[in-house]
This record gives sequence, C-alpha cells and structure tokens, in this order.
Amino acid sequence: MTPLYTQINSVGSSILVAENIDGGYIVPDRRLFIHAVDNVSFTLEGNEVLGIAGESGCGKSTLAKIVYGVIEPPLIVRRGRVLIDVGNRNLIDILSSDRETIRREIMWKTLSYIPQNSMNVLNPMKRIRDHFIETLKFHGIEVSKKDVVNYTREVFNSVGLPIDATNAYPHQLSGGMRQRVVIALALMLKPRVVLADEPTTAVDVVTQLGILSFLKEWQKETKCSMIVISHDMGVHAYMDNRIAIMYAGNIVEYGDAEKVFTDPLHPYTKLLIESLIKKGEKSIKKGILGSPPNLANPPPGCRFHPRCPYAMDICRKEEPLETRIGNNYRVKCWLYSNSRR
Ligand code: SF4
Repeated sequence: MTPLYTQINSVGSSILVAENIDGGYIVPDRRLFIHAVDNVSFTLEGNEVLGIAGESGCGKSTLAKIVYGVIEPPLIVRRGRVLIDVGNRNLIDILSSDRETIRREIMWKTLSYIPQNSMNVLNPMKRIRDHFIETLKFHGIEVSKKDVVNYTREVFNSVGLPIDATNAYPHQLSGGMRQRVVIALALMLKPRVVLADEPTTAVDVVTQLGILSFLKEWQKETKCSMIVISHDMGVHAYMDNRIAIMYAGNIVEYGDAEKVFTDPLHPYTKLLIESLIKKGEKSIKKGILGSPPNLANPPPGCRFHPRCPYAMDICRKEEPLETRIGNNYRVKCWLYSNSRR
C-alpha cells in the first residue's frame, strides 16, 4: 500500500511541486483527445505568488483543476504528480490520493480554490451564512448561526463586505460582492496555498482593483503562497513574484516575474507584454495576430510558429527544447537552444 505521506528531498523547500503533468479531455464519439496540459512542471515556494498566464484556451484552467485534484470525466490525467506540503514537510501527491484524503487533508485547510464564476459555486437556495456553516461543518467545526456571524465578521471586513451580507441569498448580492463572498469562503480556514483561477474576470475594473489589492495584502500578512491564473497580464504585473507563460498546453517561459516583464525572451511573452496598455497611453493595442491552435490537433514543431514573427525552418518541424537560463529560469524556443541545428 502506498504510504499517505512521502518525504522527498528533491522538492527542496517548495510548498507545492507539479511534475510533468500531462492531461486533457477525451471526446469518445469523435475519437479526440484535447491535449490541454502537456508535460507541465513548476514549483511554488513559501510566501510567494506564482502567476500562470496565457490567452484563453491555453490550458490554464485545466491545469488549475488538476492541481486542485478536481479530475472528473471527460478530463483525465495521463501522467505526473502534484506534491503538496501539508505541514512539517509531509508531502501528499494529490494525483494519487483518493477523494477522502484530498477532502480531509488538503481542501480548504492546505489548498483552497477561488473559482472564476462565483454564481456556479454559491447555492442560490441558501443564505450566505449557511455556506460558511456548511464549510466549517465539512471540516468538523460545529458552530451556531450566531457564532458564524462573529466568525465571518473579520473576514468580511477584510474583503470589504458588510456583515449583514451573511443573511442575504446569492442573487441579492452584486457580482462583485458574490466574488468577495467566494474569496472569503476560500480564505476562511487560512490555507497555506491559495489557487485563484481568474479571480476578477466577472467584475468591473474598480471592484477588480479592490479584490486584487485585498488578495495581495492578505498574502503578505498571512505569508501564504498563491497561484494566480489569469489571461490578464496587468493582473500578473500587479500580483506575481514568479510567472509561467502558457501557450497551447506548454509552459513556454518561466521565471522571476520582474525579469519576465522587463526582459522577456520568448516571442509569445514579448507580444503578450507589448499588448499591455501602459499608463498614459490612449491608443488601442493591436493584440496578437491569429488565434491559439486547436489542442486536439496542434501544429507540428513549435506550436506558436504560425503566429511567430521569428519563425525559422526548424520551428515548423521540430518541437523546441527547453533551455535553462541561470537560476530557475527557462524558455522553450529554438532561438535560445544550444542544440539548434
Ligand atoms: S521556436 Fe521558433 S516559432 Fe517558436 S517561438 Fe521560438 S522562434 Fe518562434
């Protein structure tokens, strides 16, 4: 029988390690495999924010589901492991754990998830306070309705929600308020790792700024680690210490966020950063020409070659190798590969 905990020295001080994740969606009647996540690896250190960036459909949200252990058909994982430190360097592999272990040892307490669509998370038939009571009960914490008001007062204050929102039904709150409720739920048990999947997509710009500054403050104060998944490079510029740029299921550039934003290497990263509107600019940015490939049938060679202004012959034929540059920085592009032929 596989032991629940493993002590693995190779993970160093990382709080979460994703290794060689390979997964996607099976479409049986069309005999297709949509290869959404292809050999993805990254580490998350204590007290850091790791961003996962890329256009819609690049595999970011599938990666989030896999890391959180929510793997339901048609999603399958063909390879890889996700190790998480549940305390005292006890590591659990989320991908080989059963649902009960994930529920008991990981969800909410160790790793908490902020999903992108708050309306799908909150039960429209239940008051907000009942969502908090049920989450606490799920973890064996029995509280009265009166106690939950006290329990939520602090966290509601922090996320800028009025305390009487606990009595409301989800439909009585605005989209921004519902998203704050979902964030308050995710942070209630002070998790070591927070996984936020497009946490501000459904809200207006002012609410977006409020939510991001709250998350940033919370992270600094609690020293938790965060994975922020967003298509919006502005969100990453604001939040991240480290960033992984995803394109068509691959991580194409990975490293220190400041370096990536000031001196990006991969042509796709350069275009993503160029498409950011800078302070004082009034012109409309063009965006990146073309669209991401069909992940059921990606182009040969480098998947970005049909859109890349630097594409060479080799790019159309062979998949680029990953090149390590300095400490904990890597790029997947033939422009930087020593073994370029
Ligand atoms: S490998 Fe070639 S096509 Fe791909 S990003 Fe690099 S230069 Fe462009």
